[in-house]
Amino acid sequence: MSQPETRGFQTEVKELLQLMIHSLYSNPEIFLRELVSNASDACDKLRFEAVSDDALYEGDESLRIRVSFDEAAKTVTIEDNGIGMNRDEVIENIGTIARSGTKAFIQKLGQDKSKDLSQIGQFGVGFYSAFIVADEVSLTTRRAGMGPEHGVKWTSRGEGEYTLETVDKPERGTTIVLHLRDDHTDFANDWRLRSTIRKYSDHITFPVEMLKVPAPKADDAEEKTEETAEWERINDAQALWVRPKSEITDDEYTEFYKHVGHDWEAPLAWTHNRVEGKTEYTSLLYIPARAPFDLWDRESKQGVKLYVKRVFIMDDAEKLMPRYLRFVRGVIDSADLPLNVSREILQSNRVLDTIRQGSVKRVLGMLDQMASNDAEKYAKFWGTFGQVLKEGVGEDFGNREQIAGLLRFASTQAGSDEQNVSLKEVIGRMQEGQDEIYYIIADSYAAALASPHLEIFRKKGIEVLLLWDRIDEWLMSQLTEFDGKKFKSVTRAELSLDEAAEDEPEAKETQDALVERLKKTLGDQVDDVRISKRLVDSPACLVTTEEEMSLHLQRLLKEAGQ
Ligand code: ADP
Ligand code: MG
Repeated sequence: MSQPETRGFQTEVKELLQLMIHSLYSNPEIFLRELVSNASDACDKLRFEAVSDDALYEGDESLRIRVSFDEAAKTVTIEDNGIGMNRDEVIENIGTIARSGTKAFIQKLGQDKSKDLSQIGQFGVGFYSAFIVADEVSLTTRRAGMGPEHGVKWTSRGEGEYTLETVDKPERGTTIVLHLRDDHTDFANDWRLRSTIRKYSDHITFPVEMLKVPAPKADDAEEKTEETAEWERINDAQALWVRPKSEITDDEYTEFYKHVGHDWEAPLAWTHNRVEGKTEYTSLLYIPARAPFDLWDRESKQGVKLYVKRVFIMDDAEKLMPRYLRFVRGVIDSADLPLNVSREILQSNRVLDTIRQGSVKRVLGMLDQMASNDAEKYAKFWGTFGQVLKEGVGEDFGNREQIAGLLRFASTQAGSDEQNVSLKEVIGRMQEGQDEIYYIIADSYAAALASPHLEIFRKKGIEVLLLWDRIDEWLMSQLTEFDGKKFKSVTRAELSLDEAAEDEPEAKETQDALVERLKKTLGDQVDDVRISKRLVDSPACLVTTEEEMSLHLQRLLKEAGQ
C-alpha cells in the first residue's frame, strides 16, 4: 500500500466528464455496454499475449466477465480476469491524458441537439460513460503476470481529479465499482442488469456471468447460503461469425456490427463468407451507414479485426483492408495463420495477402450488388464514402475497372449536383461516333455548369461529367479509360467535335484577320489563337493542349503559392 496520490484530468477530459455527469440522457444503460466491452477487450488481449507467454494465465485460463450489485450500498460491480493494467497504463488510458476522440466527441455533442451519448464508444472514450450513472467510480486493476502487490486503485468523482493508490490485488484483471447516483439506483437490480446485458452484450465472445438468483429456500437451507453462491452465464458467448449464415438473424448481425464497429446505428450492408480451399478463413464485413469521426485522419485505426481460430490478434491490421476501404468494419478469422503470429510476420505473409485480396473482392462485390439492387441505399453509401472510394482508382490497380464502375458523377444530362450517374450509363447514352467520355473539373458544381466549354456539347446533346471534388483532379489523372472508352477533358484543345463542324468558306477571311489581331495583342501570354466551333454563346475561351497541366490544376497550384 502507498499514500494515495491525487492527479488532475486534462481540460478536455474534465469537460467530457461534466457532460456525463449532467446528462439527462434517456439511455443511461449504455455504460454497461461500454464497460463490458472493455472487459471483453481485456480478455482478448490476455489471450493473445498468453499465446507466447503461458505464464500470464497464472494457472487460470477460463476468461470471463462478472457483473454483480449491492442494493443496500447502491453499487454495481463489473469484474474481469483479463490483461489488467499497470500504473502507467492506468494514467495513460483513463487518467490524465485526453485521447484523440475526446475533443471530437465533445464537439459532436455540442452540435447534436439530442445529446446522443450512445456514440461515446466510437470516439474511444467509452470508459467515462460510467459517470452517467455513478457519482463515484473506482477501478482496481493488476496486470497479468505481475505480483499481487502491483495492484493499482483509481478513484474519481468525475470532478476534475482522480486518486491513485498501490494496493494488493491477488486476482489479475480489473474490477470496477460504480456508486450509483440517486436517480440511477434502479441499476442495482438483478432483472435490470440481466436484461441490459442480454440486450447489448449477447455477442461478447466471453461468458458474462451474474450470480444465480437463489431458489426459494427449503426449511433446512440455512447452512448452505454462502457456499451456494453460483455464477451463471447469461450471454450467448459464441463467436457470431463461426455460426452458419442460415441460423443468424438480421438483428443478430446488426447487434454484432454495433459491437465491432463501435457504432450505434445499424449498418448499410454486410457480407458473411466462409472461404474454403487452399486458404481457409471466415470473413464478416460491414459497410457502416455513417462515417466515423476520424475518416479523414491519416492515423485513423483500421476497422477490421483479425482473429486466428477465434483468438483475437489485432484490430489495426492495415494489411487486411487497403486505405480506400478504411470505412469497412468487421472480422476476419483465419485457420491458416500461426497463433503466435507477430506484426513482423504480418508485414509480408502470403496467406494474409490472399485473405486481403479475397476480402477486397467481397467488399467490392457487395457494393456492386448494392448499386444494382438498391439505388437509394447506394446513393446513401456514395454520399458518405464516395470520396474515399475514389482513392481506390489510383491505389488498387488490379481492381481499377471494378472501382471505376462504382463511381458516381453529376453530369450535364442529370441536371442536378447529385452525384448519381455511373460510367455505364454515360456510355449507354453516347452518341453515334462518339468514342470518348467527356468531363470537366471546376471549383464547384455551379462553376462547372457555367463553363463556356460546355456550350458545344450542350448544343450537340453530348453528356459531360461535372467534377468539383478536391480529389477529382488526381482521380482523372489516374482514370484514363473505362470499358475501352478514353476520358477526355472538355478543356483540351484537340477536340474531334471541332473538326466535325462544317466550315463556312466565306467567313474565313474575316476570321483570319481577327486571329492575327488577337495573336498580336496577346503576344507571349498565349501559345496560339484558333478559330473554334465549340462555342455557342461565349465569344472566346481558354483551352490547354494535351501535354499541359489542366487549367484547374494550374489554378490549384497557384493558390498553393507554387
Ligand atoms: P476504448 O475501449 O475505445 O479504447 P475506453 O474509454 O472504453 O476506450 O477505454 C480506454 C482504455 O482503458 C482502453 O483502451 C484500455 O486500454 C483501458 N481499459 C479500460 N477498461 C479496461 C479493462 N477492464 N481492463 C484493461 N484495460 C482497460
Ligand atoms: Mg471501450
